Amino acid sequence: MNPINIPFISLICPCYNEQEVIGYFLSSVTPILESFKKPYEIIFINDGSRDNTFNVLLDAKRDYPNIRIINLSRNFGKEAAMTAGVDVCQGEVVIPIDVDLQDPPELIKDFIREYENGYDVVVARRVDRTSDSLAKKLSASYFYKLHNKISHVSIPDNVGDYRLMSRKVVKELQKLPENQRFMKGLFAWVGFKTAVVEYVRPPRKAGNTSFNGWKLWNFALDGITSFSTVPLRIWLYMGMIIAFLAFIYGSVIIVKTLIYGIDSPGYASLITIILFIGGIQLMGIGILGEYIGRIYMESKRRPAYIIENEY
Ligand code: UDP
Ligand code: MG
Repeated sequence: MNPINIPFISLICPCYNEQEVIGYFLSSVTPILESFKKPYEIIFINDGSRDNTFNVLLDAKRDYPNIRIINLSRNFGKEAAMTAGVDVCQGEVVIPIDVDLQDPPELIKDFIREYENGYDVVVARRVDRTSDSLAKKLSASYFYKLHNKISHVSIPDNVGDYRLMSRKVVKELQKLPENQRFMKGLFAWVGFKTAVVEYVRPPRKAGNTSFNGWKLWNFALDGITSFSTVPLRIWLYMGMIIAFLAFIYGSVIIVKTLIYGIDSPGYASLITIILFIGGIQLMGIGILGEYIGRIYMESKRRPAYIIENEY
């Protein structure tokens, strides 16, 4: 691409089994991109879709020449797909956006306005979550609270991946070497002057969400363990508290024995304490294991994704 054709906007659209929505997505997003009268690119990252997404994209490219299709070699997950997009995009501003139209394309106009006001990052904050299930609402709100309490970088509440980033920000993101990528955290970690625009998140246009409860739970664990070591440090205090309680309890037994003599029954209290301490220890080991697992995966230095080809 010669310098004259460097796009102003790059849209990054990760797709996993999205055959039904790609058409809707393109017809609603292109008029908005055209309205800026500047070159743009729409980068679809086909994240190992099992349905017809890839062919739908190839067909769409005939009508929409600004599409680039990055085909990953298998399903790597949304975070890896977005990373691929961030790595290949060329635009002056870069916008990751879901193809299910839950990220309203009209906001792009607000993003650009704030960018022109001098902001390097413009995030979109959801003002209500009525389109989410109660469980998702509650778990999301607790996740952000906990995450922000124990991590050095706080992720703004109710802000997703939908945002604008300037080339400056993208350059920094591209330098981050980790292959386990919790993008929301990384976006926040790089910093820069940030503006917020608010919106109401509509439900999915068609197709199904690929994030069920178990996937979200693991995503939350990834988020916390990538950006905080507090869960490791807790065990120091846990150990201190339990040792202190054990000391008190031991003293009580000694005093009791001195006053009342030896009192041998105690099976119930013994077994309760042993099981309690055992459970606590297993939890501690589990958390250690979580971090060791992350170190292990990271130490392999494998790439976050593999591109099969660009079409
Ligand atoms: N996605 C992806 N790879 C995956 C799962 C999802 O690229 O393994 C994409 C998906 O195609 C969509 C976006 O990530 O564009 C958000 O997914 P979804 O709408 O299922 O999540 P939700 O909006 O329910 O959180
Ligand atoms: Mg969605």
